[in-house]
Amino acid sequence: MRVLKTILIAAVCAAFAGCEDARRGGEYTADFFAMDTVMRVTAYGNESEKAVRAVENRIGELEKMWSATDAESEIFAINHSGGEPVAVHKETAELVLFAREIAEKTGGALEPTIYPVLTAWGFTVGENRVPSDEEIAELLENVGYERISVAGNEVRTGENMMLDLGAVAKGEAADEAARILKENGISSALINLGGNVRLIGGKPDGSDWRLGLKDPLGSGYAGVLNVSDCTVVTSGSYERYFTADDGTVYGHIIDPSSGYPADNGLLSVTIIAKEGRLCDALSTALFVMGEEKARAYWRENGGFDMILITRDEVIVTGGIAEMFSLDSGHEYLRLTVI
Ligand code: ADP
Ligand code: MG
Repeated sequence: MRVLKTILIAAVCAAFAGCEDARRGGEYTADFFAMDTVMRVTAYGNESEKAVRAVENRIGELEKMWSATDAESEIFAINHSGGEPVAVHKETAELVLFAREIAEKTGGALEPTIYPVLTAWGFTVGENRVPSDEEIAELLENVGYERISVAGNEVRTGENMMLDLGAVAKGEAADEAARILKENGISSALINLGGNVRLIGGKPDGSDWRLGLKDPLGSGYAGVLNVSDCTVVTSGSYERYFTADDGTVYGHIIDPSSGYPADNGLLSVTIIAKEGRLCDALSTALFVMGEEKARAYWRENGGFDMILITRDEVIVTGGIAEMFSLDSGHEYLRLTVI
């Protein structure tokens, strides 16, 4: 399949006299597992293999720093410090600070200290259960981004608190991957870190990338996005969830105001912007907020486009509307441009 695609792309390039990419060389793709998800990086150009390998190595390093479960990680050290300040790499301090900032801006919808609640629901241990209201209330006492402080390269949280960068780490890793590829002279690449998609330039022939947006209710696509040179991140409850004995479905994104999985009618939130970590943070936060608050956040803050999917409606912001088309197989979905 990959061989066929390479041939097709090469053929398209050869058709244009002086097509740079034809001279610069070929496609290189790496598939790997990191940060608890499947990743694929494809780059075009002479240095594509070297560049993609450098990305894979770097993501491995970031995972070592930011994993919540690896006893060697900096996040683990913070979570087992008993509330004492912990010296960390600059990258870690910056990402913690960023998560704290977005937590503040979103009124705690993004909550980087929600981890103990997530664990009670079994999402971090792979054995799901429904915790009692009492248990949730108790755990929520040790949740609160306000108690995270970052001073220089030192991070401190309240005692018994747990930091988890799961909602922003892949977006930051995608930004880092893009920097590395560009440093290596790559001007056309597709970085897909478990649904965090970062695009460098357009396709080698200069046209837009076509991204299929998963249908949260089915197996196909809800629509297609034609874009270049940006990040596209989707959060939804249809990827990681479990069904309780009574039939209730619980997703892996927790509403910190209740300690229960977010369940507000939004099925997925896609954020489109330049910066990967912003897309990642906001896709999670706006999924927690629900449709009305998400719309208000977008109106008041701007700086990004979004696609909200509910059971019967796809809401698209004006900046991206022309690049988006509904999949014809989904007539039950109504398209609204805001
Ligand atoms: P995914 O990691 O599935 O692509 P997200 O970027 O939306 O999706 O992040 C979800 C992850 O973030 C969860 O697996 C969990 O680790 C963490 N998380 C869950 N709820 C929240 C929340 N309200 N704020 C911050 N992180 C959260
Ligand atoms: Mg996220």
